[in-house]
Amino acid sequence: MDGLDAYERLGVRRVINASGRMTALGGAAVRPEVARAMAEAAGSFVDVAELKAAASRRIAELTGAEGAYLTTGAAAGIAVMTAAAVAGTDPARVAALPDADWQPCEIVLQAGHLIDFGAPLRQMVRLGGGRPVAVGSVNQVRAAELAAAIGPRTAAVLFVQSHHAVQKGMLGLDEVTAIARAAGVPVLVDAAAEEDLSAYLVADLVAFSGGKAPEGPTSGFVLGRRGLIAGCWAQERGIARPMKIGKEAVVGLLAALEAYVARDAATESGHRRAVVDGLLAELRGIDGIVLGVETDEAGRDIPRVTLGVAPGAGFSLAELVRELQAGSPAIHARTHHLREGRVALDPRPLLPGEPAIVGAGVRAAVRRLTSR
Ligand SMILES: *Cc1c(COP(=O)(O)O)cnc(C)c1O
Repeated sequence: MDGLDAYERLGVRRVINASGRMTALGGAAVRPEVARAMAEAAGSFVDVAELKAAASRRIAELTGAEGAYLTTGAAAGIAVMTAAAVAGTDPARVAALPDADWQPCEIVLQAGHLIDFGAPLRQMVRLGGGRPVAVGSVNQVRAAELAAAIGPRTAAVLFVQSHHAVQKGMLGLDEVTAIARAAGVPVLVDAAAEEDLSAYLVADLVAFSGGKAPEGPTSGFVLGRRGLIAGCWAQERGIARPMKIGKEAVVGLLAALEAYVARDAATESGHRRAVVDGLLAELRGIDGIVLGVETDEAGRDIPRVTLGVAPGAGFSLAELVRELQAGSPAIHARTHHLREGRVALDPRPLLPGEPAIVGAGVRAAVRRLTSR
């Protein structure tokens, strides 16, 4: 070959991802054994239905779920879970979606869960034929408010477990599930980026992104109860068709999940801390930069280095972020808390050697910004 990788050959810049498992930055850099499995699968034919059935059985086994459904990502998972709750396996209803001119089709969710993960969550609900109904206020939802919003028009309650969602004042999953159960409606969970694949099975269906925690290819899966999982598969003859997962991604996702469930949490935790220490060492002593360490806002075991800009530094944090993203390689920090005066560097997606590149990149960016 010409010594360039697939991206360089197109003139596309290398990215140093210190942001997280971001779909917009390619999700995960898959392990070599995952890439090998995908290459092997890509080069031959297979009965896709048979492959998906076998892979979903194995995923259910690995996670302790009754059943699993495979798709292209968690966003697709939300649309398909909704469709399963609204249309079930009825062929006429499946074919009519997203125009559900019947009841129940309402999907009830807490106001603080009405997120945008790069696209609005409620649009995914509509795509599945659901009518989103938000309950309460963005900082406060009362149990009685949720109970009152559930009625004969309610197809399901959707719960969002995410760092994107408001953490304060929302009802917890156990509480939401108890209220929904009492009313006889299923609970759907968007757990796209969560690490514990079995923790949300108290709900009826749970959507994950295969490219986030499990570090698989661009893919997604829904876990849950047998009847509703059958409802998900039924959508393959309807709205799920444009969300179909390919044979390579099925095989890659499975290889990634096998490695993910076999991982050692203590080793992983130690690795994250070592990368954080490495980043701190590389970033110490840069004029105008204030360093810190914070833990994940959604309670996952993820320490992150924070960067702030000292008063009088001569540049703003937003300018620093832009400068880092505009460079080559482009360096992407986690900008969720930019308006609160800090950005974070996530140890998980950084590859060996990259903390030094981040250190040099921040140093060079600060030099450029202060010599304007
Ligand atoms: C990333 C994310 C999604 C979308 O997942 P994709 O796999 O990119 O489709 C949905 N919800 C939440 C909370 C997310 O973090």
